[in-house]
Amino acid sequence: MLKDRIMLGLVKFAKGPGNVGVREVAKPAVSAPDQALLKIKACGVCATDLHVMDDTFRYWPPVVLGHEFSGEVIETGAEVADFKPGDRVVAEPKTFVCGRCDVCKQGKTNLCVHRRAPGWGVDGGMTDYIAVPERLLHRIPDGVPYDVAALCEPLAITVHEIDERCGVNAADVVVINGAGPIGVLSAFLAKSAGASRVYMTGMARSEPVRFKAALALGVDGIINVEREDPVKRIMELTGGLGADLVVETSGSPAGIRRLAEMARICGRITCIGLCPADEAAISWNTAMYRQLDIHFNFSSSYTAWGKALRLMASTPLDLRNAISHHETIDNWERVFGDIREERAVKAMFIPADEISAYR
Ligand SMILES: [Zn+2]
Ligand SMILES: [Zn+2]
Repeated sequence: MLKDRIMLGLVKFAKGPGNVGVREVAKPAVSAPDQALLKIKACGVCATDLHVMDDTFRYWPPVVLGHEFSGEVIETGAEVADFKPGDRVVAEPKTFVCGRCDVCKQGKTNLCVHRRAPGWGVDGGMTDYIAVPERLLHRIPDGVPYDVAALCEPLAITVHEIDERCGVNAADVVVINGAGPIGVLSAFLAKSAGASRVYMTGMARSEPVRFKAALALGVDGIINVEREDPVKRIMELTGGLGADLVVETSGSPAGIRRLAEMARICGRITCIGLCPADEAAISWNTAMYRQLDIHFNFSSSYTAWGKALRLMASTPLDLRNAISHHETIDNWERVFGDIREERAVKAMFIPADEISAYR
C-alpha cells in the first residue's frame, strides 16, 4: 500500500548550488475542500528551475521543481464547483498570495512579494501528481495537446506584457532580442498580434535548434550577433527608421546595451528577461532623444492565461515547434545541460507512464 502513496519527483533537496536529484516524495491528496488533484501530463523546464538549482532564486527545500505543467483532474474537494475529474487543465503559479497587500488588492497577485508558487515555494510539476486550489485552474481547449498546453505559463507572460501592457499595433516591426524559449514565444505572440515583420537576434550556438524553432513560429529574419552588427542590420531592414517595438528576452548585458539603438523614434522597449546582475547599461541619451517608452514585466495576469489558451487553439502556426525535448525526469541532467548550452527551446518532462505517446 505504501507504494501507492509514494512517487518519484525531481527535487531540490537542500540549500546551496546543486542538490537536485530524483527522489521519492509523498503523493499529494486533496487536503482542502477547494483543491483539485491533478495527474501531471507534461511539465516544462524554465530558467527559474535552473536558478533554483544554482541557488540564484528563492526556494524552500525540499521542493519538487517545475511550475509549467498541464494535467488531468482526477479528484476534487467538496467545494470545487467548476471542474470535475477528467477535465484537462493548467494552473497559474500563485498557490499562496497574501491577499492583503496593495498589489493583491489591485488584482495583480503575480507581483505579491509573499507569493509562493509550485517548483520553488511549494512542490511543483516534475513528478506524477499535484494538488492545486481550484481558483488557479484554466481549462485546456479541445485539440490542444498536453505538451503544448504546458507552454501556457511562459506564453501568458508574453501575452501579459506584449499584448496587454506594452501593445503591438497592426503592421509594427518588432525585434526580439534573444532566442531562448521566451524569445521564441514572444516572436510567436508579436506575429499573432499583428506585427508585419518580426526579427530576432541570437548567438551562433542557437542556430541549430532555437533559430529553427523561431522561423517555424513566425520570425521573418534572424540576426546572428556574432556574425553581423544587429543595430546596423535592423536599420537596413527598416529603411533607417528602427523597430517600433524591441522585446528584450536575452538577459545579456551586451544585448541590453543596444536596445535603444534598435528602436525607432517614439518606439517602445519591453523587458521580459532577468539579468545575471541587478545593473545593466542602456544608451541613455539615445533613449531620451528618441523619446522611447521602456517597460518592465514580471510574471503574468489571470486574463493573459485565458488569451494564451485561446491563441493555442486558434493559431494556424504549430506551437509544437517550440518544444525541443520530451523526456522523463531520469534524464534531467542531460536536459538541463542542453538548456544551459542553448541546444533546447522548451524541454518538457513527461511522466514515465505517458512518454510512449511522444516516442
Ligand atoms: Zn516559467
Ligand atoms: Zn499580496
